[in-house]
Amino acid sequence: MRPFAYVRADDVASAVRAATPAAPQAIAPTSAPSQFIAGGTLILDLMKLDTMRPERLVDINGLESTLGTIRPGPQGLRLGALVRMSQAADDPVINRDYPVIAQTLQLAAAAQLRNMASLGGNVLQRTRCQYFREPSWKACNKRDPGSGCAALDGVNRKHAVLGVSNKCIAEYPGDLAQALIALDAQVETQGPAGARTIPFDRLHRGSDTPEVETVLNPGELITGFVVPAGPWTRRSAYLKIRDRRSYAFALASAAVALDMDGDTVREARIGLGGVAYRPWRAHEAEAMLKGKPLTEASAAAAARAAFAGAKPREHNSYKVDLGQRTLVRALMQVSRMEIVA
Ligand code: SF4
Repeated sequence: MRPFAYVRADDVASAVRAATPAAPQAIAPTSAPSQFIAGGTLILDLMKLDTMRPERLVDINGLESTLGTIRPGPQGLRLGALVRMSQAADDPVINRDYPVIAQTLQLAAAAQLRNMASLGGNVLQRTRCQYFREPSWKACNKRDPGSGCAALDGVNRKHAVLGVSNKCIAEYPGDLAQALIALDAQVETQGPAGARTIPFDRLHRGSDTPEVETVLNPGELITGFVVPAGPWTRRSAYLKIRDRRSYAFALASAAVALDMDGDTVREARIGLGGVAYRPWRAHEAEAMLKGKPLTEASAAAAARAAFAGAKPREHNSYKVDLGQRTLVRALMQVSRMEIVA
């Protein structure tokens, strides 16, 4: 592990100042010399692997009193960026009113990691692509722009089939992001240029610029998430399919929220995980379901629409079928939920 400096921030402004490089626009945020650290469950791993090489870590755990709160209200739910995964996963109001959020957290990682990891860090998880994490592989556009992509013709069983390009086929590994994108969450940030709010579905960038993963600027800190209230949030769930039942990333997952009028879908909200380059909203599937009775057949047609643009490689073509079946199962499961008033 390379030597690095460590500073502790007392408030949001000093954290942003400490993490802002001299010429912030010229650097991809993940390559900036200063990086924020909260739970440390992501960045310390990548530093030990020598995949990330920050010169300075800015510890933001001292901001927990301002950024560590869960605030439900009639307009929606506000989650501070320093809320720990386990804190949100166990919260009774989130479990009752936003079960899809609670379930994405309960099914992620392991208990020790959930106790440490923050929600802000969680949505910024970086891919588990083995060629990215192991720097002895030279061809990785995400680590070294222009170097190629070892996964295109390498071992790509866990890689993405949606939103991929010839530059990168890495899978986005997180779970919470699928709930936040499905529920139209907003991301609140504070950066060198001030505060701003970003729709969650615009936070992550596409695979044409693998080395720049989000629209955040260097030194810009996620301070929280706002999830709007809606008639679909209670009737929601997350289905995650993986190689083993715990402590594994999704091979395919679906975050589904439905507003139903009897058997008919008024509105559907769908996020897909394990299959896409970035958190993925299945707009085509939602449009196919809207205003129609939900049956196995209509769910299957929507799932086919969701994967119509899939581009599988040699080892991951199974994800097209698995992803569709996961979505069908999640839709049927959510449609049959008993909603307690
Ligand atoms: Fe790198 Fe992306 Fe290719 Fe993996 S899939 S080797 S992260 S460029």
